[in-house]
Amino acid sequence: MLINFNQPPYTSSEDLYVLQAMRSSKISGNGIFTQKCQLWFENNLPCKKALLTPSCTAALEMAALLINIQPEDEVIMPSYTFVSTANAFVLRGAKIVFVDIRPDTMNIDENLIEAAITSKTKAIVPVHYAGIACEMDVIMEIANRHKLYVIEDAAQGMRSYYKGKSLGTIGHFGTYSFHETKNYTSGGEGGLLIVNDDSFNERAEIIREKGTNRSKFFRGQVNKYSWMDIGSSYLPSELQTAYLWGQLENTEVIKQDRLTTWNAYFESIAPLASSRLVELPHIPKYCEHNAHMFFLKLKNLDERTSFIEHLKNLGVTSVFHYIPLHNSVAGKKFGRFHGKDMFTSQESERLVRLPLYYGLSNRDFQKIISSVESFFRP
Ligand SMILES: *Cc1c(COP(=O)(O)O)cnc(C)c1O
Repeated sequence: MLINFNQPPYTSSEDLYVLQAMRSSKISGNGIFTQKCQLWFENNLPCKKALLTPSCTAALEMAALLINIQPEDEVIMPSYTFVSTANAFVLRGAKIVFVDIRPDTMNIDENLIEAAITSKTKAIVPVHYAGIACEMDVIMEIANRHKLYVIEDAAQGMRSYYKGKSLGTIGHFGTYSFHETKNYTSGGEGGLLIVNDDSFNERAEIIREKGTNRSKFFRGQVNKYSWMDIGSSYLPSELQTAYLWGQLENTEVIKQDRLTTWNAYFESIAPLASSRLVELPHIPKYCEHNAHMFFLKLKNLDERTSFIEHLKNLGVTSVFHYIPLHNSVAGKKFGRFHGKDMFTSQESERLVRLPLYYGLSNRDFQKIISSVESFFRP
């Protein structure tokens, strides 16, 4: 029996809500479930404005449209991230300026950002890798001093906190992903744009509604709707948001289950870390995390390759990710790396992720641990 790397989260009433949506008279965007979910985020993160989208990619694209990215504008971000973080801005013609990461958290090194700022810089996009917060106070201070926008890619960060604040609610904008590989899903694909600056609210609604003021029309605030601005189709269907509603009712159940597994991994692998055979993740004091990911770092690329092979032979799927963007074909074309790549390439080659999902059984967990241990036994 193979242990999968991921299993999409399903708790209890998602199917009921999806059926309810199917039997209702409206299953296109911005219906009852969309509005219930958005209100949940506004009350529980909390945040001023939450807009559900078809993906985190779409939410990032909306943020790039909202801050009016123009050709040749520069956007600062880590190279160790998913392609969407960069693509959203490249689609508007921006140049990406990659900055090195900190080896302890794998997040952008806040101390290297300022030197990468030029007169063309428009925004900073910190990515909260593994749901572990970036050093946001420092990033916001730099951004405010240089009048730059901050868009938090908190795709992995729902139910994580920086000094008590929900990730995604600190910058001008924040984005979440509800892809099936994330902690909470809206039926496979989905996302959220968090708007923390009121002045963007009206335009955000228009951009999400194909550039029209249809949202205002539905609220009875205008008697016809028309084309107001650029925009696209950034509304999820009610079938997606109905699934998400089932997940939102169980956010704590999912989080606690994942944390239990994460903590058990940490304790079981601690002896290997004490013997300096592996490195464990580091959670800074300012961060309360959501157990999005459990990763280990091995000696180098070769050791990681044999580790993954060893686990695979024992029926355990482990994966790595993010070929650093600045080393990729598109990354070279659309971006440049500022400063020296001290850690991005080196650390990304050592990192491996173990299976972690809601409902991972104790039996499977034990099998994973014994497979990890046997790799290091002579
Ligand atoms: C998953 C992820 C995305 C993309 O999310 P989608 O919802 O699949 O578009 C973007 N950035 C990061 C850091 C991610 O982990």
